[in-house]
Amino acid sequence: MSKIYKEIGIGFIPVLLIFLVFLGVNVIPILFVSVLGVSLFYMIKGRGGAGISAGGGDRKSKNRTPSYLTFDEIGGQDRAKKELMEALDFLIKHEEIKKLGIRPLKGILLTGPPGTGKTLMAKAAAHYTNSVYMAASGSEFVEMYVGVGASRVRDLFKEARTRAVKEGKDNAIIFIDEIDVIGGKRDGGQHREYDQTLNQLLTEMDGIHTNDAPRILIVAATNRKEILDSALLRPGRFDRHIEVDLPDKKGRLSILDIHVKNKPLAQGVSLDMIADQTFGFSGAQLEGVLNEAAIYAMREDKLAIEQHHLASAIDKVMMGERTDKETAQEEKERVAYHELGHAIVAEIVRPGSVSQVTVSPRGKALGYVRHNPPKDHYLYTKDYIEQQIMIALGGAAAEEIFYGGRSTGSRNDFEQSLSMVRNMMDSGLTSLGIIDRDMVTKDQLMKENTIILDALMIRTKELLEQQRSVFEHSFAILMKEEVLSGETFRKLFDDSVSKSA
Ligand code: ATP
Repeated sequence: MSKIYKEIGIGFIPVLLIFLVFLGVNVIPILFVSVLGVSLFYMIKGRGGAGISAGGGDRKSKNRTPSYLTFDEIGGQDRAKKELMEALDFLIKHEEIKKLGIRPLKGILLTGPPGTGKTLMAKAAAHYTNSVYMAASGSEFVEMYVGVGASRVRDLFKEARTRAVKEGKDNAIIFIDEIDVIGGKRDGGQHREYDQTLNQLLTEMDGIHTNDAPRILIVAATNRKEILDSALLRPGRFDRHIEVDLPDKKGRLSILDIHVKNKPLAQGVSLDMIADQTFGFSGAQLEGVLNEAAIYAMREDKLAIEQHHLASAIDKVMMGERTDKETAQEEKERVAYHELGHAIVAEIVRPGSVSQVTVSPRGKALGYVRHNPPKDHYLYTKDYIEQQIMIALGGAAAEEIFYGGRSTGSRNDFEQSLSMVRNMMDSGLTSLGIIDRDMVTKDQLMKENTIILDALMIRTKELLEQQRSVFEHSFAILMKEEVLSGETFRKLFDDSVSKSA
């Protein structure tokens, strides 16, 4: 019917326009406004009304149920996986929970840093519960037109139900990444569009009747849980919160084991060592390390990945690609003394901790020292932080010893040192005692800061002055090779110490 009206309209409009021209009416402004109106209509319709099909190719590929992905293919995250599976059992055992009068689960919130496997968890959840999988990202709902985001939310739920029925599945899992984009605290102010989108999401969640198939479960992810609106987090909505944190050493090793499966490793390569050296890396970064290592191996025409490919790959992921910055000889020498300063202090206060010393520019750095953390640390003592500050000050201290002054190369080191002093102050580890920042003046903080850093700088310089021979031995080799592995550096260090003893 509407098609007939459309065709009549298409025929009638030109006739009307010709008639108006005959009457001497200027039709150009009418034409202009009509074209503008029609394009706007189709733009909104295309982006909003048909939200699911908009960007269809992309969305469809994201939504294909990943039958291959199971929880076994997610490395580490044992606690998060266990908690998630327990929550998903509610969906599987819906009859039992009904008998006990348990309120069915509607939303699970995964929180944690980027690249830790939250999306993988949602996909594995769909596999575990034999559900249809739909994915969307918070930013996909954000439009300048009021109401478009809300209509996309509606469409997403509608499509989840339709697909579940079509595919004969009892459940559908809707994964919403970056939920904070639409789920931030509502202030009733400027972001009316965001508020409407969030309201629609809440309405859809309230409308989920979890006893009738297809049952819908929403899994959302964020790394900014603190900014979420409390309406989202209340019981009956996202009331299961699962933390998906950065992996510990065991987790890192199991992630490496998963991603190395399709990559040939040379004999003797130790992934355990790589897990040791990648403290603070996310799963995505670990996958990146193996991928980059394979690229380095290919560039060297090697058939398998060797340990040094992995070492370079860690540097690449951590610091960025090697740059072609041509440094003057003088500058390179200063960088070498600076980096050796860090490395020597590190080796003294924490023997065995240096993993690599480099004087070739990478990313923004002209040189750097990579450290092996002894084990994963979550609690730090005053001594530990002071040692850490001394390692950071080692570069500037070495420049003072060999050049009589510092350079701008220590800026980053000082930023790190200041942040560590701040941590000490906030943790009650300084002579200020236990403080609240509002109760002390800036002067007091500044004074304490200076006392701590000056004393540590003096201790660092004293340490380095006693190791001039280590500098002498390592300097020429570092200048020539540009990279010293932890083992080579330690050998040079031990040799010089025993010679000067
Ligand atoms: P974001 O918050 O940025 O969306 P995310 O937490 O959702 O990130 P994923 O998209 O799940 O992270 O992970 C990105 C990639 O990193 C995965 O495709 C996978 O290659 C790798 N990865 C991350 N965590 C793990 C893990 N625990 N086990 C195996 N691979 C992982």
